[in-house]
Amino acid sequence: MILEEIWEKSLSKMEEKIGTSIFELWIKPIRPLQLKEQQLTLEVPNRFFKEWIEDYYPTLITEILEGMLGHAVTLKYRIAEKQAAEIKRIEAKLESRKTRLASRGIYLNPKYTFENFISGQSNQFAQAAAKAVAETPGKVYNPLFIYGGVGLGKTHLLSAIGNSVIDSKQDFNVLYVSSEQFTNEVVSAVRHGKTEELKKKYRNVDLLLIDDIQFVENKMATQEELFYTINTLYEKQKQIVISSDRPPKEIKTITDRLRSRFSMGLIADIQPPEYETRVAIIHKKSDIERLGLKEDVVNFIAAKIKTNVRELEGCLIRLGAQAALTGSPIDVEMAKNVLKDFIQDEEKPITSEQILKTICEYFGLKIQDIKARKRTKEIAQPRQIAMYLSRQLTNGSLNDIGKSMGGKDHATVIYACKQVEDKRAKDENFNGMIETLLRKIKP
Ligand code: ADP
Ligand code: MG
Repeated sequence: MILEEIWEKSLSKMEEKIGTSIFELWIKPIRPLQLKEQQLTLEVPNRFFKEWIEDYYPTLITEILEGMLGHAVTLKYRIAEKQAAEIKRIEAKLESRKTRLASRGIYLNPKYTFENFISGQSNQFAQAAAKAVAETPGKVYNPLFIYGGVGLGKTHLLSAIGNSVIDSKQDFNVLYVSSEQFTNEVVSAVRHGKTEELKKKYRNVDLLLIDDIQFVENKMATQEELFYTINTLYEKQKQIVISSDRPPKEIKTITDRLRSRFSMGLIADIQPPEYETRVAIIHKKSDIERLGLKEDVVNFIAAKIKTNVRELEGCLIRLGAQAALTGSPIDVEMAKNVLKDFIQDEEKPITSEQILKTICEYFGLKIQDIKARKRTKEIAQPRQIAMYLSRQLTNGSLNDIGKSMGGKDHATVIYACKQVEDKRAKDENFNGMIETLLRKIKP
């Protein structure tokens, strides 16, 4: 029997044993290359096939062939040339980037690159701006200010700029820092009398990436340092990139001059991905995680998970784990089951608690604060907004809403709603903030 025939016959037996869908996915793409001295060489499309088969069906192929041939068989895998070369190239690049990042003490995730970033309507503008900045840092948009909700790719884009510059400009001094870390460094420098060193560190970079800038709210010494850092870098035509969960005009307690620095270059927002982009992202991640998701499963997930990309990733990881655990292929039924907790029930009404939680996160307050009797301005306004949004988004009566805000009466709720409505009509920034909050509660 020639090799092709042997393989052909063994295929149908394998299909019987593991079921058609897994077979189609993992076994059918394999090609037999050579059978020599009881060793069979198989060509697989990429290394994932080899790993997957060895993990889940380590004896499947050998047992069936041994049964047919009547002697022991060992397997050897060869990865199809093209993919192997491509994978090697990508891995080598990643490894070398990792080394360079580590040796220069830059805390960037080497995997967050432009190549891995899927763009669609929701993030195209931000992505294009980020690419332009990576190509000609300090020349086009300075600073570049990227804002958007949680898990929408801000850190990814910031890192992509850093990684791209690290790859293309060896002598560039890149610094990535979260605003929390920056704050800590400022505090510590002040305490230990080391502000000169801090200045030296931050004012001599070619590219400064500051993530989640909203945390500098209320921190005056940090804002001061940041202001001078940005000024110095700007004057030297060094690139600054900033990310935030909200636009500059909504970052409340920062000095006006810092806010105006943030707005001096280009402001780009990232919106939650629309359906087509979600489909593309799931496809890409499914490839990377080697889940081999079928079209109907991809569409199902894309239709159900609408909030953000981090959540999409979480879903895929769970699905992958479930499939690995049960050894069954991922189909829509499995997806439905596994993703129960992720899927927002469209019919499920929004609650005042949910609104309170979002508002507290946004303003950096505790739920007890809002429910307490305090009337300071920092609390009174968020509380009024909570009442207003509850009135808009829930079916609760005025009394219910008052109760859920810590036992306020219905007149208080009416008053709050009126206040917020008036302010929305008059104050464009305030109105923008309410719209941001609405989107956060009801994506
Ligand atoms: P943020 O900083 O806005 O909260 P991240 O940048 O941490 O969000 O993104 C969350 C996760 O989603 C990351 O793993 C990131 O790689 C991924 N991600 C976000 N947007 C995209 C995209 N457009 N394409 C591919 N992956 C994305
Ligand atoms: Mg982030």
